[in-house]
Amino acid sequence: MYKVLIINSPLFRDKNNLYDEDSLPPIGLGIIATAMRENGLDVELIDAVASKIPLKELVKIVSQKRPDFICTNVFTTNLELVKEFVALISYSTHFIIGGLSTKNLYKEIFEWNSNNNPIDVVCGDGELIASDLILNQIKQIPKEEKKGRRYFMVDANSVYYSKEISIEKLDRTHFVNEPIKNIFEYSEANIVTSRGCIYNCAFCAAARSLNKEFGIREKSAISVIMEIQHLIDLYPNLQSIRVLDDLFLKNADSVEKAIEIFKYFNLRWRSMAHVQTFNKVSKETIHKLKQSGCDELFIGIESGSPEVLKRIHKTTNIELIKKNLSELLRSGINIKGYFIYGFPKETKKDFKKTYELAKYLTNVAQENNVHFRTSVFQYRPYHGTELYHSVENEKGNSYINEILAVKPNKELSDLLGRRQFNFHSGNHSASDLDAVHDYIIKTSSLNSLCIFDPYAKNRVNKKTDF
Ligand code: SF4
Repeated sequence: MYKVLIINSPLFRDKNNLYDEDSLPPIGLGIIATAMRENGLDVELIDAVASKIPLKELVKIVSQKRPDFICTNVFTTNLELVKEFVALISYSTHFIIGGLSTKNLYKEIFEWNSNNNPIDVVCGDGELIASDLILNQIKQIPKEEKKGRRYFMVDANSVYYSKEISIEKLDRTHFVNEPIKNIFEYSEANIVTSRGCIYNCAFCAAARSLNKEFGIREKSAISVIMEIQHLIDLYPNLQSIRVLDDLFLKNADSVEKAIEIFKYFNLRWRSMAHVQTFNKVSKETIHKLKQSGCDELFIGIESGSPEVLKRIHKTTNIELIKKNLSELLRSGINIKGYFIYGFPKETKKDFKKTYELAKYLTNVAQENNVHFRTSVFQYRPYHGTELYHSVENEKGNSYINEILAVKPNKELSDLLGRRQFNFHSGNHSASDLDAVHDYIIKTSSLNSLCIFDPYAKNRVNKKTDF
């Protein structure tokens, strides 16, 4: 029987105790592992992120286990690390590398040093193709092939495309970090109910226009209800569900569907939503959403500048953003808002508008005795995104190669205390880097108003007088 190791690839070379972003189980890899086990393979999943395994230790573990196949994922941020990992595995094995970014990276992966080990690159659903690759029963011609490297695209035309995700199976024993205590101290497990996003943000690799070939798929309400019931049976003390979809609440219909699903349970829940989700949702429906157990929504606000918002294809109507999000806060739903500083061409005036929007929402939250948490990042271009290509067009190819070497932003992490860990790949804004950092720190510091921020006391508050 083939021995397979699935690795949720590390984000850092060394053990990084500063990293404290939410630890989430790699659901997609868990689905792949489940399918492999059903196909009779001896499979193990190592979560190098949750287990904070440094690169060298990971190489040691893998070299001791000597699996016949190593399946792993790659992102823009850890491309160099995964490349190094592959080069450091010196015994004879076979790599399968997946992830959305492979669509733009596979040619580069083809050139990696793998000590003559074959590499298959898969873009799209992995659960049906992976076992066939391992068992050498592949039913699809590679899109491209070169000296022991093959690239497979699993789009809607592929025999390996998962048309009906309602029936997908997930063996949760593969995960090391579930259930966890969430920020509200509730025991929480995670689900994914859809694949794909309907929006088109210019900085995001999941944008609709970049992923048309994969289609958007949603699980039926009944299958989600059954999955939640399964989690309750599995974890008897479960108190909360986090829905990890790119966008669970995307429009008025999805709000109704969420209320329908969660009204069956005495559970809290949290999920992603869009700033425009609530455009046509009444106050009564928002109240029902809260009553269904909705504790917190994660919302990508990104910027308070209409000019920047226009460039990233988000609504430029700041009053609408304020209205929609204030309504949630007034109804008792907490919000974690994501902001980005340093977009291409962004100026200090734009930074100021973003900060003012974050401050406004913090004040509304305080007035209503709920919490508005901020999560703030420095802009970095992701492979294949619209903004990545505009930076490439404007500044040339050698510049973009520099970007490939995304590095942890230690300076910013130290300034922010343990609360955030950031990567950087250049300052693309029209302002100086100090101003970018100052506004990141200032907006992050709004969290110190939030009683749920466990790291507020560790944060250094610099330059808050603007
Ligand atoms: S940032 Fe969110 S809403 Fe925008 S395209 Fe990406 S997943 Fe969709």
